[in-house]
Formats: sequence, C-alpha cells, structure tokens
Amino acid sequence: MALHQVGRPAPGGEPAPQGAPDTSVEDVYATRLSRRALPKRRVPEREADPVAVLALIRDELAMDGNSSQNLATFCTTWAEPEVHALMDACLDKNMIDKDEYPQTAAIEERCVRMLADLWHSPSGGAAMGCSTTGSSEAAMLGGLALKWRWRKAREAAGRPADRPNLVCGPVQVCWEKFARYFDVELRQVPLEEGATGLRPHQLRAHVDENTIGVVAILGVTYTCDYEPVAELAAELDAVQRDTGLDVPLHVDAASGGFVAPFVHPDVVWDFRLERVASINASGHKYGMAPLGVGWVVWRHRDLLPEELVFDVDYLGGRMPTFALNFSRPGGEVVAQYYNLLRLGREGYRAVLDSCGRTARALAEKVAALGPFTLLYDGQGALPAVSWTLTDPEGAGFTLYDLTELLRLRGWQVPAYPLPADRQETVVQRVLIRHGIGYDKIMLLADDLRDAVHRLSGGDRRASQQPGFHH
Ligand SMILES: *Cc1c(COP(=O)(O)O)cnc(C)c1O
Repeated sequence: MALHQVGRPAPGGEPAPQGAPDTSVEDVYATRLSRRALPKRRVPEREADPVAVLALIRDELAMDGNSSQNLATFCTTWAEPEVHALMDACLDKNMIDKDEYPQTAAIEERCVRMLADLWHSPSGGAAMGCSTTGSSEAAMLGGLALKWRWRKAREAAGRPADRPNLVCGPVQVCWEKFARYFDVELRQVPLEEGATGLRPHQLRAHVDENTIGVVAILGVTYTCDYEPVAELAAELDAVQRDTGLDVPLHVDAASGGFVAPFVHPDVVWDFRLERVASINASGHKYGMAPLGVGWVVWRHRDLLPEELVFDVDYLGGRMPTFALNFSRPGGEVVAQYYNLLRLGREGYRAVLDSCGRTARALAEKVAALGPFTLLYDGQGALPAVSWTLTDPEGAGFTLYDLTELLRLRGWQVPAYPLPADRQETVVQRVLIRHGIGYDKIMLLADDLRDAVHRLSGGDRRASQQPGFHH
C-alpha cells in the first residue's frame, strides 16, 4: 500500500533543499508543508510530498464529522471493503464511453433489467431505463418525458401546449428545480393536518388538462412515510372515468424503491399499477451503493419520447442514451451491481430488517421521553423516526436547541419546518442506514434523554457523571 509509506519520493523528484533532512524518513508533521497553512487561494509553485499532502488533507476532512453519527442523510456512508476495491478499479471508467468500456455499459444495462424486474415491469423486457448521478437527475429525466408526451398529445389534439403543470405533495427540492429549469408550473398540494404526504382526495382539485403528471413519493423526505401510491392511482383512474383526463403517475422512490420491494412486498406502488409510467430511485440511498448513482425506469420504451434520446458510439454501432451529463464515473454503477449480487433479496431484507428494528426501538425511547409526539414511528415505510414537540410553546425549549445540544456529542440530528401550509410545525428526524447499528442508536437515545433533561432545567451533568466532584 504505497499510500501509507511515509516519505514516498514524489514522481519527478523535487530536489531536497540544501541541508534539509532526507524526506524519505521525514515525519509527516515535520515536513515543510505541515509547518504552515496549506495553500488555499493560489495553486502552489512547487510539488509536495504525496504522503504529507494526503495526511494533511485527511486531517482537515476529519473535521467534517463522523458520518456514522450523521443521522440526517439518506445516503450511503458505509461500504464493504469490496466496494472500495471496485471503486478503485473503476477510477478510469467513464459511463458515457459505451464503446471504450462495453462491460461497464453491460453492467449498467443489467442493473436496469434487475430494477425493472424488482419493480414488476410487466412488458417482458420492454421497460427502458438508465443510471443517473442520483434521483435528482433521474427526476429531471422522468419529468422531461412527461412534459414531452403531454405536449405531443396536446399538439396532436390541436390544443395549446404552453402552460404545463405538475401535481405533487411535499416533494424533495429536485422537483422544484425540475419545474423551474424546464418551465413547468409546480402545483404543490398543501399537507393536511395530521398527514405525512399527499392524500388521494386532494388530487381532483389540482389536476386539469395541462397536468403533465402526478408525482407520488415512496418515502417522503420530511416524514419518511410512503404516500399511498395505489390509492393515488385509483383516484386518477376515477378522474379519467369522470373527466376523460388521462394523467400519468411518476413515482419518486428515491429511498423507498430499494426498501419496499424487500421488506414491504405487499405495498403496491410500482409497475403493478397500470398508471405508473416511470419510477426513479437513488442507488446511493437504500440501494447501498456509494454516492453518485440513481436510476430511472419507464414502464415501456414508448413512454420515452424519441426526441429526448441521443445516440452514442457503442461497439461500432449506436446506443441510445438519455442523460443530462456527459462524462460520469462508472464505479458507482459497478458497485450497485456488486450490491445486488452480494446481498441479493435476502441480504437487502436482512439489512433493512435490522435498520427497521433499530428505528422502532428508537421510536419507543423517543415516545417515552415525554415532550414528543411521534410523526412517524419507523413502522411500514423507511427505517427512520420523526417527531415533533407535543407542546412547542410550553416545552421550554425548541427542537433546534435539541439539535444543537446533540451536536456537542457529534450527533447530526436535523430539525426543520414542515413544507407548504404546515411551516409552523417543526420536526426532527433520524434515518437509520446500513452501517448504523442498534447499540450506536441506543447511545443516541441516552444522549437525547440527557439533553432533554438539561434543556428542561435539570442539572447539566447529573445523569452522566453521578460521582464527579472537584
Ligand atoms: C433524496 C431524494 C431525492 C434526491 O435524490 P438524490 O439522489 O440526492 O439526487 C429526490 N426525492 C426524494 C424523495 C428523496 O428522498
């Protein structure tokens, strides 16, 4: 492991200054580089010892905090050594160069097939999809296909096609981006009191002839619950019966797409529903691949307008691609394939089961503390917990105070307001992922108890250091 050999001579060899110690035995923290601030504004003139640069940058990165205590993110923060090995092996793979890296392209294609199958694509291989950098890019592609199809249908019917809208509940910011970047009105349906997402009866008042589609979320970012996709689809069926409007459904399954198939097989949310035209998911969330991969799959290739497809060279022929980016690393896609093979359905189920148990155990602890009302208790959807203060006025502290106090122990537990019409409700959320174990979360529960005790006016160290005296 060359990277760990202190004092590896730099290629091209910067000559050692006169009288300077031999760099091959120099301690990292005694190097020239370590004795002053690292360059931050101007590319330095001279080369530097790679071992020292690595060590000093790592030192700085350590200040980002410990990602296994970051309970805010849905994204992968832990991977097996084999994933690291594959990522290293794929450093040179460019996803766009299908011709130069045909096996990487083949592996992407296999992942699409596997996901289409996992999501019950009915058309015997007619489903179409691709990898992306994440669900955000996947959402842009899904949204663009909706917009193009709607416009074509409107033009064919001789109707105006200049005021498209997209109907959704409390969506992730990527859909707001899609709407703004691609000039679509976002009709975000306000969250009802006590609801964790869009409810079917709310749809009718918002969809019309200019609606390019409805987005349903499997794993609402704010609350972690699944929206009732089957009921939303049934309501859109009813709308079509009553009004003739045929509004497609896109499922943003950024997190749920890799959870529901394994641990909630009875939740019908995917291509089993005729109305679901397309699905996106983040490979780098519960797909457990490293950061940088998402997926979008269409029920049938006819749902992807051909104007949006570009051909690239592939094995001397042409291969259709649909993407916002050009060059993009291949390692994450290969690591996704590794995970699918390595874990299999049984493995994903086992990991997610553990996460779910841990989430429910934390939910019990949170509920028992007193001042909180659970918004989502870790049952039936994502392995996560979210809660609010039962009496925000009378509690004597805010969830933001609690976030700050937990941070003293390194925990990152976000507090934030709910979206549209429920902004006055502040919630706190904890996500349990692969690599975050039960015991760790029980340590969080202890710290949560101590923090609440302290914020409620209790002795700040009483519960932690009972025998401590000066
Ligand atoms: C995380 C998330 C996104 C964005 O996904 P990225 O993979 O981070 O781009 C979109 N929608 C939902 C519901 C999400 O949870």
